[in-house]
Amino acid sequence: MYLKKLTIFGFKSFGNKTELIFEPGVTAIVGPNGCGKSNISDSIKWVLGEQSAKELRGSKMEDIIFNGTDDTQPVNFAEVSLTLSNKDHSLPVDYDEVIITRRVFRSGESEYLMNKTQVRLKDIMSVLAGTGIGVSSYSVVEQGRMDRVLSARPEDRREIFEEASGITKFKAQKKEALLKLEHTENNLIRLADIVNEVRRQISSIERQASKAERFRIEFDKLKELDEKLGSHEYKQLKAQESGIRTDVENLKQQEGHMSLELNLQQDELRLHREKIHALDEQVSETKAGVVDITNSID
Ligand code: ATP
Repeated sequence: MYLKKLTIFGFKSFGNKTELIFEPGVTAIVGPNGCGKSNISDSIKWVLGEQSAKELRGSKMEDIIFNGTDDTQPVNFAEVSLTLSNKDHSLPVDYDEVIITRRVFRSGESEYLMNKTQVRLKDIMSVLAGTGIGVSSYSVVEQGRMDRVLSARPEDRREIFEEASGITKFKAQKKEALLKLEHTENNLIRLADIVNEVRRQISSIERQASKAERFRIEFDKLKELDEKLGSHEYKQLKAQESGIRTDVENLKQQEGHMSLELNLQQDELRLHREKIHALDEQVSETKAGVVDITNSID
């Protein structure tokens, strides 16, 4: 793997699109003071994810966008692309070439791309982890940083040697794992709360369930008693019904006898009426005879 190309647009003093092609071997960039040599190493740090404006020798991130000159207009965004040859596949991706791009707009919007696909800085860092390429790695050693390598403070040197030996990758993984662990511990605490809450709910539900069970038993008893009562009442009504049926039969028979009797009585009545009528006629005739006799006597 080696740095093949650096494309800079709108970054610091690079108002126009500038391409720097690096051939295998050593490349030195020379030029007069203030011509933008350090801006090139700044652009490399920036594209690799540098977040501190101070580290890029500015006071705020917007300072890295080309501000224009007397005869050039300022631009609205800065974009730097770093092309790495990955023919030996030392980077854990399938491509033979990896292009890392960072873009930032004056509005503050910013984006990272890997081979023209938008990615997170975290994705770039995980691809580059352990390679020695990175913001705080030994691959970019700016002027002041040489002092740190030579400094008497072992912890300053240790940081650089750790990256060089590839430990940083594992340190980053450890940091991530610790974060995950912390996250998991928080989740466990939340889970314990949930378990307690669910336990409380379970005991309340158990109480409700035992109430429901008691209700079911009582309800079954009630149902059984209801059925017994119903069957008892049914039997009683059946007995009453058969008594009533016998009564009805008897009454029907009585009715038959009485209607026969009635017919006989009516016949007898008719005869008596005829007799009365005949007697009435005899009485009338006798009365008429009496009137005749009385008249004759007179
Ligand atoms: P030296 O040899 O002194 O270290 P250098 O070649 O490393 O110098 P740099 O520090 O890279 O030079 O470049 C500084 C130049 O970049 C200055 O002229 C400055 O005006 C210019 N510059 C920095 N930021 C911007 C910006 N946002 N827009 C335009 N020009 C800028």
